[in-house]
Amino acid sequence: MMPAPMVEASRASARAVDFLRKSGRRNARAVETVLFHVPFWRIQGFAFRWVFGQRPMTSEGWTSAPPPMERVKELLYRTFDHTVPGFSGVDLGLPSMGVRPQVLELQPLGRSHGGSTLLPLDVPLDQVKAATQELSRDLPVPEEIRPEVVIHRLVGVKFSVIYVPFWHVQCRDQGGTHAVLVDAAGGDVARSIPHAVGVLPQLLAGHRGPPSPVTEIRFLPFRCPNCGWGFPFHRLSFLHLCRTCHRLWSERRGEWCEIPYAVVPPPQGRPWDGPVWIPFWRFRAAVESQGTRLDTVAELRRVAPPIHPLPADPKAGGGPIHFYIPAVRLRNPKTLHNLASRLTFAQPGMAPGAFPQGLSPRSLGGSLSQADASELGPMILGALIPPMNRRAVELLNGCRVELSEPMIIYFPFEQANLYWEEPWTRLAFQRSALSEESLDGVSE
Ligand SMILES: [Zn+2]
Repeated sequence: MMPAPMVEASRASARAVDFLRKSGRRNARAVETVLFHVPFWRIQGFAFRWVFGQRPMTSEGWTSAPPPMERVKELLYRTFDHTVPGFSGVDLGLPSMGVRPQVLELQPLGRSHGGSTLLPLDVPLDQVKAATQELSRDLPVPEEIRPEVVIHRLVGVKFSVIYVPFWHVQCRDQGGTHAVLVDAAGGDVARSIPHAVGVLPQLLAGHRGPPSPVTEIRFLPFRCPNCGWGFPFHRLSFLHLCRTCHRLWSERRGEWCEIPYAVVPPPQGRPWDGPVWIPFWRFRAAVESQGTRLDTVAELRRVAPPIHPLPADPKAGGGPIHFYIPAVRLRNPKTLHNLASRLTFAQPGMAPGAFPQGLSPRSLGGSLSQADASELGPMILGALIPPMNRRAVELLNGCRVELSEPMIIYFPFEQANLYWEEPWTRLAFQRSALSEESLDGVSE
């Protein structure tokens, strides 16, 4: 819930009366003041879109005839953070919460919620999910590009409910009854609401219990079920690597389940305790489009030859295609996409192993689940396809990226000035790109 700094009913009444007087109702007075909380659905995630198409060449001298076209591609992305009403019975004139969830500190919804009434949450999650797909499509295609193939994905979507406090102030003057809504979180925003008479009985009748049935809550000891040592704490992480016995665990249906994983060792002569270990999902990938199926790196490269020569790895060509996707959430969606597509492009051929005994590895937690990560598959394929290659671009049309054999692989990232750098592929990203919750436990 959003905190309500305006706790006194008298302040809310005064604000409402002031609002009505300024709009010409000089004799208005407050008769009933009720604090209530309005539910909003919050939808967070990353929206990505690859646009392949043609663009007029921008060169001097194309003045008389239309300029020739060039084939281009452009990656559009943004962090998606949107709110929609979670109530449907009354019209409060509040289509969204604006940017407030991003700038105000949220609190857990307490049992008493300050004695306030909760407006019932009656917009079901399925309805919100359907609307989300539509909302996320409004990434504008650059005007100069004539699109031919567009791939679109929403990745790492999280749904939550936020209750926002408002004062409902019923006022009266000789003209009748007027309802004013005063924002208890912001303080000075007030607005008239239509159908004033209809809202108050609903609020007064509103239930004061928890908004949805809360199922059983249990606590799991936050320590390794194998050796009993405490796990490193990463907020919101679903991966817990025991720093003592090196087993990896995840919670499933209230139990600890062991997760198989592998580790990419540092290059010969480099210390094991230097790097921070970042978990990646590795999937075996197959691409299917218009009756063509690509299963190996050689097949993929025949259809989509790389623009730049690759680091030579003779073994990689006939082997399966592997897609690598960070299991960590990064602040900037572009960094997430870059890391995934560049590591996939490199198809690193190192033989993964295990942490040596006695090492206490510094690792990042995992915040992008297997299902979330696999949503990024088609976007990575888009990154591998050169825009000039018409046949390859056509392959993208209606293609299916099948990801199987999921596996967690820890890659070493060493500190290099302002960057974290992977020593085998020289893949690097800015240190500031890791979100705060991932960094917990790494700074120790
Ligand atoms: Zn352990």
